[in-house]
Amino acid sequence: MAQVTGQDRGPAQPAAPTGDDPNAVAAPFDPDIVARLADEYLRDGSAGVPAATPPASAPPSGPGFYFLTEAPFAGGFPGFGVNEVRPEVVPRLDAGPGQFDVMAVRRDFPILDERVHGRPLVWLDNAATTQKPRAVIDRLSSFYRHENSNIHRGAHTLAARSTDAYEAAREKVRRFVNASSAREIVFVRGATEAINLVAQSFGRRHVGKDDEIVITWLEHHSNIVPWQQLAAERGAKLRVAPIDDQGQVLLDEYERLLNPRTRLVSLAHVSNALGTVSPVREMVAMAHRHGARVLVDGAQAVSHLRVDVQDLDADFYAFSGHKVFGPTGVGVLFGKLDLLDSTPPWQGGGNMIADVTFERTVYQPAPARFEAGTASLADAVGLGAALDYLGRLGIENVARHEHELLAYATGALRSVSGLRLIGTAREKAGVLSFVLDGFRAEDVGAALDREGIAVRSGHHCAQPALRRFGLEAAVRASLALYNTRADIDALLAALKRLQGGSASG
Ligand code: PLP
Repeated sequence: MAQVTGQDRGPAQPAAPTGDDPNAVAAPFDPDIVARLADEYLRDGSAGVPAATPPASAPPSGPGFYFLTEAPFAGGFPGFGVNEVRPEVVPRLDAGPGQFDVMAVRRDFPILDERVHGRPLVWLDNAATTQKPRAVIDRLSSFYRHENSNIHRGAHTLAARSTDAYEAAREKVRRFVNASSAREIVFVRGATEAINLVAQSFGRRHVGKDDEIVITWLEHHSNIVPWQQLAAERGAKLRVAPIDDQGQVLLDEYERLLNPRTRLVSLAHVSNALGTVSPVREMVAMAHRHGARVLVDGAQAVSHLRVDVQDLDADFYAFSGHKVFGPTGVGVLFGKLDLLDSTPPWQGGGNMIADVTFERTVYQPAPARFEAGTASLADAVGLGAALDYLGRLGIENVARHEHELLAYATGALRSVSGLRLIGTAREKAGVLSFVLDGFRAEDVGAALDREGIAVRSGHHCAQPALRRFGLEAAVRASLALYNTRADIDALLAALKRLQGGSASG
């Protein structure tokens, strides 16, 4: 039976489903269980963090319903006021090549010329997906015009071209994350698939009964559910490191969770809901001291800051192409070579085999053993073009531009009365989540959309993180390299119009 334990800050884990249902997982969406957990939590606040999700029809809060009515650490993290906003850790700003001209950058993204409801598009939903530069769009088109073929198989010219393009993209990814070998780069569908791959292959092999998996309260659902599933299957425990009122992992609490039973730690490099940049290098080192392997979910990191998997000493690092200006349908799992080579494949099929008889199959070494079937070839090639593009701009230039914009946007939003920023970590990437007094998040999102401004409203696929702040939904504006102060000014003006009751419709 899977168990979820934490730092005594939430309701007990519901009993794992029993019976023969092969689809049953660790966290049944059962309103009765949810209500019981709520009662337990309200009664004694004991046991682990919530593992159940309220039913869609449930009210957003209230007695008898699982909800963090009072956030732990409500008194504030020592040294910080609860609502103090200090995104003050400046990213490493070594001069990148050339000057960063945001207006020139914007011209590289054709979609930014779109109009929405008659207004110029203001794209502030970058944490959900980023827009694509012409270099990527053209590369996809060129692949289909000149190179399209399946790879590694046909002995003909187009097969050679597409294989070269695909493997060149792998090398570009290797360079981008500074892996020591291209064999450490596995193409997958996205960060979600990368995490599931590790859970279902490495995890199944190395996590057993009563072993422990550690995550944090910041995680995207993609970095929660696969571990719940694994824990349920293996009889392991899921333990969750808490965060403070600014949305920062409490490192001493995190360290206290680590012990010789910890097999795996999986943590977000940058939180998609709060923007927190976690000190992953330090957290990886702590986990390694206890003999645990670490997966870093870099889905929100790679477009904002330089990632060096060797410097982080991450065992696995996952990200999605579409969040770093590349196509959807492709992502990356980096894994240390010895780990990949000693991990069984998770899917069987073509491309991943060296030899097949009816009696047995010999697998290819990594990375091919994890790439069963036909990969998203053009998308991988497009991702390579996106990384080239980012390399030309210089990630340090991008980080500096975004940091300045984040500071500007933070100040702008703080000027809106009744607006509460959620996630005020000292080190943040360009994510601004907020709630506005008197307005539901979805109504704010809809009002902004009517003005051509795209933000995300809802739970951002990180329900535990939002509930930590007593919320079921928030509005999220997220920045990327092509955003400008004018975008923030448009957001601010629209919010003020909404408050004044004069939102355009
Ligand atoms: N991890 C984080 C932190 C994310 O923000 C996301 C997507 O928003 C994911 C994982 C999942 O990415 P994908 O849906 O591209 O697989």
